[in-house]
Amino acid sequence: SAKASARGGHVVYNRSMKELLTQRHQLEIDLRQALKDEALSLYFQPSISAATGRISSFEALARWRHPMHGFISPAVFIAVAEETGLIGDLGRWAMREACSAAKDWPEDIRVAVNLSPVQLREPGLVAMVAAALDAAGLPARRLEIEITEQMLLDNSEHNHHVLQSLKDLGVSIAMDDFGTGYSSLNYLHAFPFDRVKVDQAFVAKLGQGSRHTALVRAVVDLARSFGMATTAEGVETAEQRDILMGLGCTDIQGYFYARPMPVSDVVTFITHWSEKETVAA
Ligand code: C2E
Ligand code: MG
Ligand code: MG
Ligand code: MG
Repeated sequence: SAKASARGGHVVYNRSMKELLTQRHQLEIDLRQALKDEALSLYFQPSISAATGRISSFEALARWRHPMHGFISPAVFIAVAEETGLIGDLGRWAMREACSAAKDWPEDIRVAVNLSPVQLREPGLVAMVAAALDAAGLPARRLEIEITEQMLLDNSEHNHHVLQSLKDLGVSIAMDDFGTGYSSLNYLHAFPFDRVKVDQAFVAKLGQGSRHTALVRAVVDLARSFGMATTAEGVETAEQRDILMGLGCTDIQGYFYARPMPVSDVVTFITHWSEKETVAA
């Protein structure tokens, strides 16, 4: 009957919702445990300076190998962390690990750490960053913080104040994934960003028509006119790299140069990279 099927539909709906919530809840429990057990790791992906061909920075990217499900995408577990308040612990862990890794690298190579807009609400954020730098003995100028442009990054007095306090420490600030959010231009104008990271969605379309090139050119030119550097994310081909260099993009990041690598591979990568440079010179 209609009544039964409606009820049936209702039951099915409820069950799948419940399963979803249970999965989320289980992920939360597992993530909490992983943070306790130090079962997360950081991978690092280089950005290459367009002008010099040298490594300008490595971005720290969190990795979680779940005991049952294998690697879980940060897109998933960062979201879980943001929703459950675990992002504070995760963020502190990432900041400490990244700063301490960077301490072993050459002076002119920075480390970039992703910060969730949710973390901007934590009262102790600036002190947490200062403490991580301090514990590692890393000069603040070697740290760059990447903040994803989201609805959450509201243009509030509070956020202004926090970003300015981070800059006052000597840290630089990048806007991540530029162009995909809701009011990119508004944020760019309002906050004192040092760098704009052009979202990989725009980079992926380079070479597929002049309109795509025009869009990226506009972003690079706008950033430059604001005195901001630019990094193109997700660069996978020589053609994309060449177009971006032609547009005057400051730094290039993507699989074309290197995939994110475990921290144990970074120093070897740096050594090989500078040997290649010496040969090329
Ligand atoms: P994101 O900061 O924009 O990082 C860039 C993402 O693009 C990374 O994905 C990276 O592995 C991937 N990628 C780099 N080059 C290429 C390429 O050439 N092609 C393609 N297709 N992809 C490329 P990943 O590592 O899965 O991280 C996803 C997002 O998770 C990051 O985006 C960042 O927003 C977030 N995330 C990662 N680690 C952390 C963390 O420690 N804290 C916070 N708050 N967020 C993090
Ligand atoms: Mg990033
Ligand atoms: Mg990005
Ligand atoms: Mg992203």
